[in-house]
Amino acid sequence: MSVRPEVLAANRRYVCEFGDKGSLALPPGRRFAILTCMDARLDPAKYAGLSEGDAHVIRNAGGRASDDAIRSLVISHKLLGTLEYFVVHHSDCGMLLFTDDIISGLLEKSLDTATIDAQGWHDVGQGPGSSAGRYLRWLTIADPRKAVLEDVQRIREHPLVARDIPIYGYIYDVKTGRLVEVEEAAQAGRVLLQ
Ligand SMILES: [Zn+2]
Repeated sequence: MSVRPEVLAANRRYVCEFGDKGSLALPPGRRFAILTCMDARLDPAKYAGLSEGDAHVIRNAGGRASDDAIRSLVISHKLLGTLEYFVVHHSDCGMLLFTDDIISGLLEKSLDTATIDAQGWHDVGQGPGSSAGRYLRWLTIADPRKAVLEDVQRIREHPLVARDIPIYGYIYDVKTGRLVEVEEAAQAGRVLLQ
């Protein structure tokens, strides 16, 4: 069963309540961007108090500062005027549960959804798989605080990121909904004075 009918029904309700949001400007009104994980438990609009038109939200697995995430952050500032960046990872992230070698090995066996138990990951698909995963960097996480720090540092040091944008690093606690600052990242993300 597909979720498509539910999604389309929800959209029809949204359209009914859309109000005057059609007149929102393209640039984000509150002039900031959030890079965060795609985890379904995280809702940046709720945890950061966003309405339509307020901010850019860039999401990927882990909320990592991949080349593509940085592409979006650079566009966000250069063309759309955002002035502050938040990097928000979270507790219990799925990116802690595997390594490049593990996901590449599973994909080599099959492309079907794998299972995990106390012994680790198991591939239960029929195959064929593909070795193409060996050529990707999956940006998995071994140490959550270190990953936030690394990502803030990578954005800070990127030659296309403006030096006067503050970059904040947080870990969202999935048990409480609280954003907890990573102090080392706050330090690393400070604006660079000329
Ligand atoms: Zn995650």
